[in-house]
Formats: sequence, C-alpha cells, structure tokens
Amino acid sequence: MKRKARFYVIKLNRRILILVAIIILAIVAMFFLKNVVLNTISNGENNRIVVDPGHGGIDGGTSDKAGFLEKDINLDVALKLKKELKKDGFRVIMTREKDESLEEYSHINASRYKRDLNARKTIIDENKPIVFVSIHVNSSKKTSARGVKVYYYPTSTNGEKLAKCICKSVDDIVYKDFLKDNSIRTEAIGEDYFVLRETENTGVLVEVGFITNPEDNRLIKDSEYQKRIAIAISEGIKKYIDTYDVK
Ligand SMILES: [Zn+2]
Repeated sequence: MKRKARFYVIKLNRRILILVAIIILAIVAMFFLKNVVLNTISNGENNRIVVDPGHGGIDGGTSDKAGFLEKDINLDVALKLKKELKKDGFRVIMTREKDESLEEYSHINASRYKRDLNARKTIIDENKPIVFVSIHVNSSKKTSARGVKVYYYPTSTNGEKLAKCICKSVDDIVYKDFLKDNSIRTEAIGEDYFVLRETENTGVLVEVGFITNPEDNRLIKDSEYQKRIAIAISEGIKKYIDTYDVK
C-alpha cells in the first residue's frame, strides 16, 4: 500500500512538472516569437532607413496665411514615421530630430541652402540605408490641387518601385480606410530633386499634402492624419522590401 501511494505521488508530481514546463515554454515562446518577428529584418545585413524631414530652423519651407510652417509638419510626420519603422525592427537615422537647419554640418563652399542639402546627402550616403524618405509639404497656386505625391528620380527603377508601393499603401490606409474617400489617388511622379539625384541609395520624397488646399491644409496639421500617413509610408517600405527582396 505504502509503495503504491508513493508511486502515485511521484506520478502526480511528474504530471505537474510537465504541465508547469509546458506553461513556462508557452510563455517563453510568446516572448521570443514577438522578438523573432521584430528581429527578422534587423538580423539581416542592412536594416537602416534614413528619414529626412525637409527644411528646419531658419528655413521654414512653405507656409499658409495662418503662419503654419512646412518644417514643423515635416518633423511631426517624420517622427511618427520613425516610431512606426522602429516597431518593425528597422534602425532609423534621422537627418534632424529638432527644429534646425543643417548647413553647419556641411563644409562645401556654397550657399546656406546648398550646404543644408549637402548635409542631408552626406547623412544619407554615409549610412547606406536600404531606402531613405524625405518628408515635405506641397503648395500650388491652384487651391484645388491636393493629395499625397511621391517623387522618385526619373531614371531610378527602384525609386519608382518604392514610390508605387508607398502610393498603394497611402491609397489603402489613408484615403480608403481613414478618410473613406475613393475620389482621390496618390501619385508617383518622376522628378529631378537634389536629394533624389545626388544621393547614392534608393529613396523617395513624399509630399504629404498641399498647404494651399483647404481640405489638405486641415489634414496635414491633424495628428491622426499624420499618424496614418506615417503608417502608410512604413507599410509601403515593407512591401517594397518584401516584394523585391531588397537587402
Ligand atoms: Zn519642402
């Protein structure tokens, strides 16, 4: 009797041990699985993305009658984009994280404006990112002009692919899901901008809306719209990397 009872206790203990082990394993697996997903990209050779909020400091960029400056909207969107990209395991390098212009970081003999742009180019080139994204706000004499435009360098096929991936996700995430507006489409446009022409890596310049259009003007200052734009750009970048197996 005694021996049988002891055997039962051992058997019960073993069951409890196995159960406890399974629970611990499950908890550990849950934590690791999350990290594995986050690290899938970061374990690769390159997980760097440069985010470049246009203008800053003395250079306000475009503005509206109420005194809102492009530079501030660019930085708000760029910081939100950094947050989204970091969630996906990317290492994000910002050309600026505060209200400053960058000419002091360039030593070329040129105007303040050109030195500022040269500093941005240097930061992008030195980090050799998978992609870079410059954030800007558009303006037009035609107040009817509106919408997100994604610019790539005309001869860059990768730039065009990236631009189209971002356009698609802005259409889905911002216009369709968030604004429930099917009348507007994001445009990918080939353009000879300095930051696209002079840099060595694939990149795009995203104009997040027109400050001169009443509807866009309201949206680009809205934190939720800025967040959706950031999510859409981030999703577009991931789509580009996955679809074209970019490293
Ligand atoms: Zn600008």
